[in-house]
Amino acid sequence: MSSAGSRSQRRAEFRGSLHRCASFVRGTLAGHPGTLNLPCFNDLTSATLVHQSCFSDVPDPAQDPETIQAILDAGTAPLSSELLSRLILAHNGAKGSLPDEAAWPTRLTLDAATAMRAAALSVRTAALALPADAAVSAEPLRSLAVRLLGDLCLDTTLSALAEAARFVREQLWPAVQSAPAEVAATAGSDSLPVAEVEGVSPAVVAAAAKPRKRVGMINPSSAATPPARTSCQTEGGLLLSTICLHLGAVLQMLAGAEMEQAAPHGGSSDSSAIGRTDLAAAATRLAAGLKHSGLLSELCAAVTAAPCCELPAPDATSLAHFTLEMTTIQYNMTTIFSKLTRTHSLCGSPVVAELLAAPAVVRLHVAMLEQVTLYRAGSRSSWVEGGSGGAGGTGGEGEEEDDEGGPGSDDEGELEGSGGAGGAVACWPLLHPKTLRLSFGPKLQITEVLHSLVTSVISLVTVEAPVNKEAAAAASKALFPSLASCAVTSAGVARALCGRAEQLGRLGARERAGANVTPKDLVGAVMCMMVMMASRVGGAPPKEVAGCLPDLLVAEGWSLRMLTTPAGLVGAKPEYVASAVYRLGALVRGSSLAPPRLWDMLSPAAQGTCVERLLPTHLLCSMDRMLRYLAVNDAARGVAMSYYEAMGVLLTPLLRASLQRWQQRHLRRQQQQQQCAGAPATAVAADEGAAGTGGGSARHATHSGEGEVHGDGEADEVWTVQAEAGVLVTLAKLARQDVAHLSDGRSRNGSVPDLFKTNSPLTCTALLLASAGCYKNGLPSLLPLVTDPTAAAAQQGGYGGVGGVEWARTVATVRRGLGEMTDLCGSEALRAIAALSEEMAAFMKRPGSASSMLKAVGGPNGQPILSANVKLLARSVLWITCSCSPAALVAAVPQRTLVVMAQLAREVEKRMRRLGGAAANPAVASDLQQSSGMLALAVMVLTSDEALRVACVPGWLWGVPLPRGSVDQVECGLEHLSQLTGPDYAAICPIVRVHSAAAAPLAGKIWRTDREASWPMVMALARKHLQTCGAFSVGSKVRWWSESFARRDGAGGGSEEALWCWPPRSLRLCNNPGCGDFGAASEGELNLKKCWCRAVRYCGPACQKEHWHAGHKVVCM
Ligand SMILES: [Zn+2]
Ligand SMILES: [Zn+2]
Repeated sequence: MSSAGSRSQRRAEFRGSLHRCASFVRGTLAGHPGTLNLPCFNDLTSATLVHQSCFSDVPDPAQDPETIQAILDAGTAPLSSELLSRLILAHNGAKGSLPDEAAWPTRLTLDAATAMRAAALSVRTAALALPADAAVSAEPLRSLAVRLLGDLCLDTTLSALAEAARFVREQLWPAVQSAPAEVAATAGSDSLPVAEVEGVSPAVVAAAAKPRKRVGMINPSSAATPPARTSCQTEGGLLLSTICLHLGAVLQMLAGAEMEQAAPHGGSSDSSAIGRTDLAAAATRLAAGLKHSGLLSELCAAVTAAPCCELPAPDATSLAHFTLEMTTIQYNMTTIFSKLTRTHSLCGSPVVAELLAAPAVVRLHVAMLEQVTLYRAGSRSSWVEGGSGGAGGTGGEGEEEDDEGGPGSDDEGELEGSGGAGGAVACWPLLHPKTLRLSFGPKLQITEVLHSLVTSVISLVTVEAPVNKEAAAAASKALFPSLASCAVTSAGVARALCGRAEQLGRLGARERAGANVTPKDLVGAVMCMMVMMASRVGGAPPKEVAGCLPDLLVAEGWSLRMLTTPAGLVGAKPEYVASAVYRLGALVRGSSLAPPRLWDMLSPAAQGTCVERLLPTHLLCSMDRMLRYLAVNDAARGVAMSYYEAMGVLLTPLLRASLQRWQQRHLRRQQQQQQCAGAPATAVAADEGAAGTGGGSARHATHSGEGEVHGDGEADEVWTVQAEAGVLVTLAKLARQDVAHLSDGRSRNGSVPDLFKTNSPLTCTALLLASAGCYKNGLPSLLPLVTDPTAAAAQQGGYGGVGGVEWARTVATVRRGLGEMTDLCGSEALRAIAALSEEMAAFMKRPGSASSMLKAVGGPNGQPILSANVKLLARSVLWITCSCSPAALVAAVPQRTLVVMAQLAREVEKRMRRLGGAAANPAVASDLQQSSGMLALAVMVLTSDEALRVACVPGWLWGVPLPRGSVDQVECGLEHLSQLTGPDYAAICPIVRVHSAAAAPLAGKIWRTDREASWPMVMALARKHLQTCGAFSVGSKVRWWSESFARRDGAGGGSEEALWCWPPRSLRLCNNPGCGDFGAASEGELNLKKCWCRAVRYCGPACQKEHWHAGHKVVCM
């Protein structure tokens, strides 16, 4: 049969039979010009079946000039279309004329459906003769294909198919719902429909399409038995599936040719032989026809209205026909949407956008995304068990599931997930692993399905977003008229895809051979979804965006978390992370993307909701991992500004919520233990008659025991600030590395200093470290949550001494962690601020820097960038001096920072004078005044602590008595301060003078001679002034650190202060300042080894060696 002779003979036979059948059909049609009754219907049915039977012998391959020529000559597409339309009319006419309404219509309708399918199959088989790669086909196939395409896109053809789709939805499927449930084997017994992905050979299709001879012989006796509802389902499914394939094949040729032309490949030089004008004309005609006929809308409406599918049992080896059909249709619809979008370059995006904005299409699109949000990877429902239990060779995808369960397990999420799977919305069989396996075998998997569901829906937005923001916004608005549902759906999609990526585990990073979509493409799908969401958010009113903020943030939270999975890391690009973090910052802080200061518009309760919802996404951990990922890829500096904005708002609330949750878990556990311990004692009492109560509490114990199964491991874990806020450690390390490079002058020579810029990485990082770590609303605000260990021990004495002591120790560890984190943030920020100021001051002293200075001091738009930066840094220095431990401060040498900041302020002042003085630049003058005020306060804070006074600011502060009742005045000698030099920074006159009534004890004292003896008076003066101006926390007489940590000595036991040392002991961090190892997911996971002095850790011998020579040699004991 492979010989050329027999092939040409078969083609001739095909041509002859096609011709004969066409004549017969024409005759039948002519014989019933306007009659619409049962005999007419029967005749048409017969003609249809005869016509269709030709196609059961389509010569293989069908994509052949002769075959297409024959199909064209016989007028197959127009003829079948007319048959289809007339069949529907005849059916409706016959239905109305029949006597017995109850039994007849369904039988008749079913037969009509079968006949219509035969007609549609003819069209579809013709469509499958279209070569998918028409652009590279040789003549005459190419021009014949274009002609056939024209036939298939005829208005009459598309309208007839649209009517058929409507017939399924309006006449066939309602019968399913009303008919009694009954199992009958009348339908689908002859041929099992074969699921079709693109590329299935037409021969298989033709074989499956053989009509049933039984149908069409309508007589009263067979009508006595009403058809089974499964027959109506199945026929509807088959008809719809046929229509889908027609549209899919037509779009495939257009999209395929478009891709061929777009792809720059030199091999086929004649690839443009199929004229772009021809293609564009065909695409335009198809789009117009789709719009006019409503075919796309009808298809979508029918798919949305499909009856529920029966899902297979876990041990099933075959599927119900209807389930198989719907699975195929659902998947083919996604490919139709993707291909349709691809034709946008041929017929214009507005045309495609209009088609996709039709209400029925939007409804299906939303339903598709909703299906994705319902997907829960790894939940213990039948979904996953079915998937991994299959006989196919791809069970490996599910195997790693348990290995990767750790980080992804969040209790509340799983509950919600199982609810969703069995919830009110029926799940599509397409997303059921077992069904998918049985339908498509190993070639299509959940990953691909998820990917294609998401990308096919939003592909137009994705296409438009980079080139035409308005069009993208319009397309996303057409999809989601409500921003709220957009946010909820985006969050759900991101979560579902993240879950899938986590389920894939390490296998996610491996590409499956021959797969169109690799797991890492899931990342692309999530990113597209986020682009869509951003397009929808853009331009929305601030109030509306604020109302949706929880879901918007959660969506970004899940998408960032997805990037941290192995599959995510393979698919990740630094741009993805950068844009995700940028969007996060923009959502809370405002930008061109979102209205300004959204976070501040929220009520505290709404902020709380955001935080609660963000917790399960482990946003802070994702932020840490992604920062390290960017550092490894040398892209971390680009995101510093976004981190500053996002973390500045979200870090502390997230940490607070996580800390509270941990404590609540602990408390619950403790109560349970107490109940268990107390049970035997109360058992006797329960006998008295309190059986109900006893039973109740027992049940409660059992129940909560079950609830804890998931989180039991977590409950035992101690909350550590490093695990939760490791991102601060990474930021500190980045700042430290930057400073190391800045001071050795390797990387910054000649470039514009950081402080000239509004968003320089090191400045942003230093500001973030200072505000998150040292500002009173940052980390320091968490300490009161961690209750006083002595008080906690006393309170828990009743629970039994051991637990109380243990808890007290745990609490002390957490407190210490928080304090050390503050120290780390503060000291790295202090060094960074010094380095930045030094660099800037040196730059300004250099001749020739005047031109850039003009811009920086005055600012290009009148904005004083430099002086504003100086003010921010001075404020940070003040916070740091308030919150860090003496050990950390002494090691960080704050006096050096103060001196170089004074030098910088002096340089700015000088420059300002040259430009016309304070009057010419009031903003700069005000910045400078505030800066010097804050530097003076920082000196006072250091003086107020006995442990710091001598080590840091010896004799810098002095008091001048004022009459009682007068207002304090502070005088800061910036010039003197700027002239001090290390290492002891001793002053030759007071740097800061406080004119105050509180300085009365210093009356008559002289700084030069009496300053050593008068230090208690000076310290008291500093404390008094700081208390008055509100620098200390409310009611406190000492700086925050002393208030929180140093005072505990009095309570007995070991002095907390005595143990405090620098560098931190409980925080893990490579101590080499130049360390550039960001390899592990977090600093805590680096394999750090201690120096033999046990005070410092290193990630490896190289870092140890470098730090040894850089100074550790001197201090190592
Ligand atoms: Zn290192
Ligand atoms: Zn050492």
